[in-house]
Amino acid sequence: MEVLDVRNLKREEKYPLIFEKLRESEELDVIIETEPTPLIKRLKDEGYSVTTTQQGDYVKLEIRKPEIVPGRCPGAATILRPKLEIVNCPDCGAEVERWTDEIKGTCDNCGREIIFDIDSCIEWCEYAKKCVGDEKYEKIMEVMKVKEALSRPLPDLRKYIRKEREKNENQT
Ligand SMILES: [Zn+2]
Repeated sequence: MEVLDVRNLKREEKYPLIFEKLRESEELDVIIETEPTPLIKRLKDEGYSVTTTQQGDYVKLEIRKPEIVPGRCPGAATILRPKLEIVNCPDCGAEVERWTDEIKGTCDNCGREIIFDIDSCIEWCEYAKKCVGDEKYEKIMEVMKVKEALSRPLPDLRKYIRKEREKNENQT
């Protein structure tokens, strides 16, 4: 465990240094003159656990990794506490009901299979697996991969079509 002594640093240097070190290791012991109330509040807001102990004429802070409480992340709410939502079928425009944790569905009107957008941080959050659970995570990531693969050639194609259209318009 790295021990960072900030006692001889200027006031404006202390906190940035602590956060910089935490970005590297997520765990740190800090030696500081007095109990830094605003710093502790900030750390707790960011999910760290902080233990303070008075040791002689200084205070030792034991800052530990953010605690992941499954389901606490607001970004996972759409997955863990799904709500019913109405989306429009990309083909026929009919209204399709979906739960916010559903990734695939079928349009009742035209029968098209629809891959829904999942509005959540689980695509990029490093704690997502722990947060929503392995099974849900794997399932969603699998569909996301398919969706990404499907959407890749489309923007180019659209650009091409637009160019062609402009060409034709210029000619007439
Ligand atoms: Zn449809």
